[in-house]
Amino acid sequence: MAIIKVAKEDLRERDNAFAELSEYFSALSVTKGRDITYNVRTYGCQLNESDSEKLCGMLQQIGLKEVKGEASADVIIFNTCAVRENAEDRLFGNLGIVKADKKSDKDKIIGVCGCMTKVPENVEKIKKSFPYVDLVFDPQQLHLFPVFLRDAIGKKKQLVNISAEDYIVDDSLVPITRKRKFRALVPIMYGCNNFCTYCIVPYARGRERSRDLSEIIDELNKLASQGYKEVMLLGQNVNSYKGSNGERFPDVLEAAAKIDGFNRIRFMSSHPKDISTEIIDMVAEHPNIETHLHLPLQSGSDRILKLMNRPYNREEYLKTAHYFRERVPNGSISTDIIVGFPGETEEDFLGTLEVVKECAFDSAFTFQYSKRPGTKAASMEDQIPHDVVTDRFGRLLDLQNDLAYKSNLAKVGKTEEILIEGQSSTAPDILTGRTMSNHLVNFTIPDALKDPGKTSDDYEGMLCDVKFTNARPYSVDGEMVRLK
Ligand code: SAM
Ligand code: SF4
Repeated sequence: MAIIKVAKEDLRERDNAFAELSEYFSALSVTKGRDITYNVRTYGCQLNESDSEKLCGMLQQIGLKEVKGEASADVIIFNTCAVRENAEDRLFGNLGIVKADKKSDKDKIIGVCGCMTKVPENVEKIKKSFPYVDLVFDPQQLHLFPVFLRDAIGKKKQLVNISAEDYIVDDSLVPITRKRKFRALVPIMYGCNNFCTYCIVPYARGRERSRDLSEIIDELNKLASQGYKEVMLLGQNVNSYKGSNGERFPDVLEAAAKIDGFNRIRFMSSHPKDISTEIIDMVAEHPNIETHLHLPLQSGSDRILKLMNRPYNREEYLKTAHYFRERVPNGSISTDIIVGFPGETEEDFLGTLEVVKECAFDSAFTFQYSKRPGTKAASMEDQIPHDVVTDRFGRLLDLQNDLAYKSNLAKVGKTEEILIEGQSSTAPDILTGRTMSNHLVNFTIPDALKDPGKTSDDYEGMLCDVKFTNARPYSVDGEMVRLK
């Protein structure tokens, strides 16, 4: 599989497509007597969210307006995830739902992209069971989306474009509409070389390729000058970053930390085999690097880690976690854990519970093992029965919920700086935000600090100090004491 670096001149065809699409949709807008709209539905991780921001950027450059929900959109794009089967099932369910909309409006365009399109069985299923889907394209060729969209319009046949190559494109050549006013997602590398035996990502996202450091720094400088307070440096394994001049991840982190303007720099994910004390020291020493480490454990059993092709052991993982706790005392550690990997015994599972307890994770994404076609683990013997998996999963959740609650409880009585994300989903007069350690906080504004001219939305992206008053399993309550 070759890695192709896309240059500006390679995008001439895309620029033609932009122009043709703008013309087509403005004519359609006149015919329909209204704006032409789009909706991008995102499944999965932050890298997919970042891809969706690019899809939105390209659709807006064409002149389309974003709408909430698929039903009323003229262009609907499903940006899919293939990491677990349930994400795939949700896509197929949603494709069924939009069938009627497409039937009643032939001008409507439905597209599917993302990791699912790299699994041949999925593409076959879309061809066979969802023939009204207009275009299917993969994440490697996101930069060519306008070309695919143009070619799909007016075609009777479904257009399928799946690449055998891995592309790397200067992200500044792709328009982007960022979802958040204060947080910018910045992928620093794409793909994965690790081939954990359960995981579809290396097949869906191809081999690792890193963006040039100079390109990343240009983007970060631009974001700082636009007033973004938080950047998230993204990659399937950010610690494997390798710049074209031999730069490594600490060089990216250092460069980001030195840029004036960012209050918070986050990075994820870190692979336990690659995370170094140097990176943890940087978290401890730079006041603008978030005091949070996402370090996926997957299993606490050395035997299972080996079967998963995760080249670290329980002891090494614990050593890293303890080092982080020691160097970053007010920090937090989150993790990913899979329950029910083929061959997992009760003893292996108890090993996972032990590590979870010892690390006292502040939060965790816990998953039931999902068999992914084409991965090594899918053909392993001794797949674990569903009832055993659900029982273990429940026990893990109980333990982790208790640890998360204790982590939130430890905050009560303290006052910390919060980056405000906006209005809480539960009540209009409550704001939500996060601490430097990534704890979720819901808080009120006392009357004395209330500005009658401001709505909850106006606070998005502002910093304030909050005194914590109460702990919940997944969040902390508090009251604002100072708006910055
Ligand atoms: N690259 C990151 C790493 O290795 O830490 C993780 C990326 S992956 C998209 C996110 C998480 O999904 C993994 O850490 C793993 O816990 C989970 N996952 C991946 N494949 C899975 C599978 N087949 N079944 C259940 N969970 C899975
Ligand atoms: Fe998947 Fe492993 Fe790569 Fe993470 S490191 S994306 S779990 S193969």
